[in-house]
Amino acid sequence: MATVAFIGLGNMGGPMAANLIKAGMTVTVFDLVPAAVEALTAQGALSAKTACGAAASADFVITMLPAGKHVRHLYLGDDDTKGLLDVVSKEAVLIDCSTIDAESAQVVGKHAQAKGIEFMDAPVSGGTAGAAAGTLTFICGGSDKAYQKAQTVLTVMGANIFHAGATGAGQIAKICNNMLLSVLMVGTSESLQLGIDNGLDPKVLSDIMKVSSGGNWTLEKYNPCPDVMENVPSSNDYQGGFMVDLMVKDLGLSQQTSVASNSSTPMGSLARSMYVNHARQGNGRRDFSSIFEQFTPADKK
Ligand code: NAD
Repeated sequence: MATVAFIGLGNMGGPMAANLIKAGMTVTVFDLVPAAVEALTAQGALSAKTACGAAASADFVITMLPAGKHVRHLYLGDDDTKGLLDVVSKEAVLIDCSTIDAESAQVVGKHAQAKGIEFMDAPVSGGTAGAAAGTLTFICGGSDKAYQKAQTVLTVMGANIFHAGATGAGQIAKICNNMLLSVLMVGTSESLQLGIDNGLDPKVLSDIMKVSSGGNWTLEKYNPCPDVMENVPSSNDYQGGFMVDLMVKDLGLSQQTSVASNSSTPMGSLARSMYVNHARQGNGRRDFSSIFEQFTPADKK
């Protein structure tokens, strides 16, 4: 059975690591937060005092961290601290599942290549529910060899695994998807409120649009209007799900990428402004479908 080091045991990393343990793999974990480590050792993980300690003898190293600066520092280290690339075995496969800027993934990938180590970016889609259920979508960027080897662990944590291209391609595909998702969420919200303002029942309107030309994922799986659908954040005061702050991060990444490639992304730009504004009004930790409230009259919120 494969040995795995898992670093970054937050909302996503915790349940992902738990699924590897359930599959019988030897998983050594590390997080800066001791309680996050304890939650995994209680489920059968081994723990290490440092990230490098966890990674040194692992076949696979998986990281699930907040942003590019954390990933660069962990893999590359600095003048005083060793990075993962300084300690891992040459046969190990390193997989970063965080959503970060493609450039950081490419920089880490270049350093890994120079040392003869396989590194892949593999951001995920599917949220905390997908992480817990082992049904995540992995969007990978890296060599064919790394992609093939990584199947051993990715198939345990995910249901759909794609090879988007070279290092960094996983991150680009991920932010293209999330930019589209934000636009669909805003558009669906304003359409539903337009119907409500003109006397329509949002459930009936949702049923109509779902099977008409406006049909989309938010209507099918994640309706933003409260009480139209059961078991979605909008019917639970927008708790759980995918935080506005994370959507703001992803839309910042898509706009940075758009500027770098001189692309035209007016809808993504507008969606970012709307989500930034929404976060500034105190909604950063609520689910991203709460953008619906931007269209709701004040006395109906
Ligand atoms: P989180 O904040 O819950 O977890 C991040 C964890 O990383 C924390 O436990 C933190 O202590 C740890 N950490 C930070 N720096 C570290 C270091 N140097 N060494 C060890 N541990 C360190 O975040 P999350 O929701 O689990 O998201 C992680 C990544 O997954 C982000 O890039 C996010 O954009 C992406 N993502 C999240 C979701 C979601 O629904 N939450 C969905 C898809 C993708």
